[in-house]
Amino acid sequence: MLFFDHNATTPISETALRTYACSLKEDWQNPSALYREASRVKAKFELERERLALLIGCKKESIIFNSGATESNNAIFSHFSKNNCSASHCLISPFEHPSIKDAARYYFNNRVLYMPISQNGEIDLSKIEQILDRQKIVLVSLMAANNETGILQPWLEVSEICKKRGVFFHCDSTQFIGKRTPVELNQCSSFCASAHKFSGPKGMGFFVSKIPIQFQTGGLQEGSLRAGTENFPAIKAMVSAYSEIHERLVSVELLAEFRDQFEQKVCAELPDIRILGSQVPRLWNTSMLITPKYDNLSWVSKLDKLGFAVSTGSACSIGKLENVSISKAFGLSRQESRRLIRVSSYFSTKLEDWLSLASAFGEAFDMLNAESSQSSVISI
Ligand code: PLP
Repeated sequence: MLFFDHNATTPISETALRTYACSLKEDWQNPSALYREASRVKAKFELERERLALLIGCKKESIIFNSGATESNNAIFSHFSKNNCSASHCLISPFEHPSIKDAARYYFNNRVLYMPISQNGEIDLSKIEQILDRQKIVLVSLMAANNETGILQPWLEVSEICKKRGVFFHCDSTQFIGKRTPVELNQCSSFCASAHKFSGPKGMGFFVSKIPIQFQTGGLQEGSLRAGTENFPAIKAMVSAYSEIHERLVSVELLAEFRDQFEQKVCAELPDIRILGSQVPRLWNTSMLITPKYDNLSWVSKLDKLGFAVSTGSACSIGKLENVSISKAFGLSRQESRRLIRVSSYFSTKLEDWLSLASAFGEAFDMLNAESSQSSVISI
């Protein structure tokens, strides 16, 4: 099976797996305990924090290890709703991941404002300052790279606008970290990552913030901000996965060429196929397609039979035929939004894999056409 759903998750790397297994065996002591063996684990733990801080380009004190981006995104909205008056608002983009959108609505109820967007899937930067001037906004949140289309958002510009006005800016950088160099992320007030997006273990991530954000109470771990026994083996595995990937980030634009060749070939196979966001800067690994005919679940199933794992969009909205946020952002019709397919690669994906996926789209189309001509059901 050729895996083209890396934006949902990536397989753990050999190095991370080895590190994890070894550390589970050797470093099982509770880092907070007082005997020497535990202090040794605590010292190793702090070394991993330092190592990550150096790679990411932030202060080691600003890192909180946690279970991943969903936890970070919830914590930030919880913090700002709790610590501000009931008239304060938050501002987010309409195509944020559900862990931002749902957290914003949960903690801020009807005090969630949405950034205006242009028809090409980017936010309309020119309107942000006006909104900040008009409303009492305490938290602005914008993703660095969209999980479904791969479109890169002007997060650095928004971060600067917020900085000038003293408004806290959170960046959901879950799809960005491990795909692009993170050098400028430290300009944001806070940002987050999930290890399983860059070949690390699942249920592990980190959050970086310029101010203390309380995750959970009940112990002194992570400077008392996130209580609970630390999962040191997973932390070590995450940092080793990231450090391996970090070295490869300088040459990712060469890999965009593979994706572009796939897009050319798939457009030749299926002339009426459309690619979302091809006119704006995107992650090198992602392609979001609107197929010419048939619903996306039929495509996923046919491509699966042909040996390719692709997706209909975010893993958090799987099973839904329609992708509402993408549809709104691009002004798609109901039918078009039922024909969206996302393909996403990672460093292990070769050019020949991309090209055989393009051919498989052609084959799947033939199979769906043949089935449809034998069926009396009208397809969309
Ligand atoms: N934010 C974005 C942009 C994502 O793509 C994801 C996962 O797909 C998340 C947040 C949530 O990550 P996790 O499920 O690892 O908590």
